[in-house]
Amino acid sequence: MPHRFESESRKLLGRLREALAADNEGQTRLDEVVQLIASSMGTEVCSIYLFRDTETLELCATKGLAAEAVHQTRMRLGEGLVGRTAKSRTVTNTADAPAAKGFRYMPETGEERFSSFCGVPIQRLGEVLGVLVVQSKDARKYTPDEVYALEIVAMVIAEMTELGAFVGEGAALSARHQQPVMLRGSSAQEGASEGQVFLHEPRVVVTNPISDDPETELSRLCEAIDQLRKSVDNMLVGARTVDADQAQVLEAYRMFANSSSWVKRMEEDVKNGLSAEAAVEKEQSLARARLSKSGDAYLRERLHDLDDLSNRLLRTLTGQGADAQADMPDNPILVARNIGPGELLEYGKKIKGIVLEEGSVGSHATIVARAWAIPLIINAKGVTREALNGDTILVDGEQGIAHLRPDETVHSAFRDKIAMQTRAQERYASIRDLPAQTKCGSVISLQMNAGLIADLPSLEGSGAEGVGLFRTELQFLIRNQMPRRAELSALYSRVLAAAGGKRVAFRTLDIGSDKVLPYMKPNDEPNPAMGWRAIRVGLDKPGVLRMQLQALLRAANGQPLTTMFPFITQISEFRDAKAEMDKAIARETKLGHPLPSKLEVGAMLETPSLAYAPDAFFEEVDFISIGGNDLKQFFFAADRENERVRKRYDTLDISFLSFIEQVIKRCAATNTPVSFCGEDAGRPVEALCLAALGLRTLSMRPASVGPVKHLLRRIDLTEVKAIMDEAIARGDQSVRRAVSDWLVYQV
Ligand code: PEP
Ligand code: MG
Repeated sequence: MPHRFESESRKLLGRLREALAADNEGQTRLDEVVQLIASSMGTEVCSIYLFRDTETLELCATKGLAAEAVHQTRMRLGEGLVGRTAKSRTVTNTADAPAAKGFRYMPETGEERFSSFCGVPIQRLGEVLGVLVVQSKDARKYTPDEVYALEIVAMVIAEMTELGAFVGEGAALSARHQQPVMLRGSSAQEGASEGQVFLHEPRVVVTNPISDDPETELSRLCEAIDQLRKSVDNMLVGARTVDADQAQVLEAYRMFANSSSWVKRMEEDVKNGLSAEAAVEKEQSLARARLSKSGDAYLRERLHDLDDLSNRLLRTLTGQGADAQADMPDNPILVARNIGPGELLEYGKKIKGIVLEEGSVGSHATIVARAWAIPLIINAKGVTREALNGDTILVDGEQGIAHLRPDETVHSAFRDKIAMQTRAQERYASIRDLPAQTKCGSVISLQMNAGLIADLPSLEGSGAEGVGLFRTELQFLIRNQMPRRAELSALYSRVLAAAGGKRVAFRTLDIGSDKVLPYMKPNDEPNPAMGWRAIRVGLDKPGVLRMQLQALLRAANGQPLTTMFPFITQISEFRDAKAEMDKAIARETKLGHPLPSKLEVGAMLETPSLAYAPDAFFEEVDFISIGGNDLKQFFFAADRENERVRKRYDTLDISFLSFIEQVIKRCAATNTPVSFCGEDAGRPVEALCLAALGLRTLSMRPASVGPVKHLLRRIDLTEVKAIMDEAIARGDQSVRRAVSDWLVYQV
């Protein structure tokens, strides 16, 4: 970088800093910025376009184009050279703009007079916020140095936009992170909570993008990099002693931390006037934009490494988010792009609600949130960008809506809603000790799903009769290493003790799919939900299954024990798994340990094929538990993790219901007890229909026991069945409408 240029660019940044620091309206500041850039670069035009919404860019400030066009001229993403720059996230630099591909003439701006065009995306952490454009009459292509200077300036504008600018209808820019925002997502768990935003992996906010002291910034950057390298080295030493695979991954990570070109680029940015943290962010943004476009899976993976390293650097430099737990507010509402069950469990039950940018109804993180009975919203697009740590947030789990920084009207309506829910809870509590007996006299056993010791107190509180599904993998997911048998057996005996003699159906490990153990080598499968998971892993590598079965037998210590195997697809798998149980029993007998006074070994029916297993299967199993979450995804060929397709198919679709009915009939023919333990069991209308089909045991998250019981007690199942049959005879695709309409007059 030539020295003259370096100091020019520093001078420009210095003046920019003054402009940004002045106590002006946002619009005035933007106007000053374009003036400064135009005069310092000697171009006739400098303009800033920002996104108005995800698809439209708006001219927000200009020096050189017609002033009347500001906040009037708009273009769609991909439209014209500006739209193209935003879409491609790359610089457009041409000496002859009207001849360039995609040029769109905008008469209101008077731009036909300008021949050359250089557009640079304004982006922050890979997200494009707008485009910075310079134009001039003479046909010249901007030099690489000039483009570099524009990129640096764009970085500063990105920070400014992030911190306070907002594209308004001809209005001044207003502070983005101070306004109320309503975010619409989908509901994954009902309930209403009020609290403060607690960002998982908080986004670091850079408040000082420009520096006037490159020397100090450079030494801050070097120190932070040094610290980063040392911490990666320490991680590596730790990993080498434990796990060779993990060490290998870390070696690659370390290579990045030591990459001299990465560091050199950041040093150059600092020399040109950016603060250390802005330089890190600039490189992170550019790398994200470059790599996310790459079709190479390996490169994309590396993007995560680089991202992670940049985040660590930013945390060191700003001191933000160093100790997440300590920064937790009193009523934390967790806000994240997505979160795994292990990470969620680490935060613990203090969390009052969750809002995720991605997520899905069937994921295990969702199941954990449900076990805690806290509202959960998924697919809330933009929440991680809009929310800042500590912001007030209201989570409406019913509607799938989050209100960020709400105004008083919204706030008071929300409090009314919470009061209503409290009254409903009181109603449920009043029937807690009564049976779920319908008006026609059928008694439905309502059980709860669990996965942690912490869930067990809900057994008492919810009125559930037992634990119909204990997901043992959650215990594995929250650890950093494989638990030992003694540890497991102590854990299971604590579960049994906490259940106080009520039946607990322990499901053996269901790993794979969305449940990846942090200490096991991830399996790079194209379709993990249909891949090597659950009992398939258990039978192919029986070490863990054996350990688990022994731990369970030992935990029972002479008391009754119920276990079931997940994802059984054919009779031979059940037989093989059962043979493992027999071996475990033989071993325990030999060792002189007491055997359970009663042992039930069941199978989960989660794949359609099992419904057509030979009669012998139904005779050999002690019970069948329908895992509706998986069964539904395989029945409709619709990924339970994929919101787009998941919602297409209704559980009350007549083909799915008639399939369930067949399973119930086959079980009845062999007198095999059958229950249903997917999430649908906890939805009152679904529960009603399942009971009407003949299911007498439903297992659900504890918070659903009250509402389901409340409804069942007021209903005659023969009437429900008649309504369902009528809908089927009419040719309805789903019985939902018919049953819901009928219910309106019943309750
Ligand atoms: C199911 O598939 O319905 C089930 C209960 O198991 P999981 O949700 O743990 O896969
Ligand atoms: Mg399942």
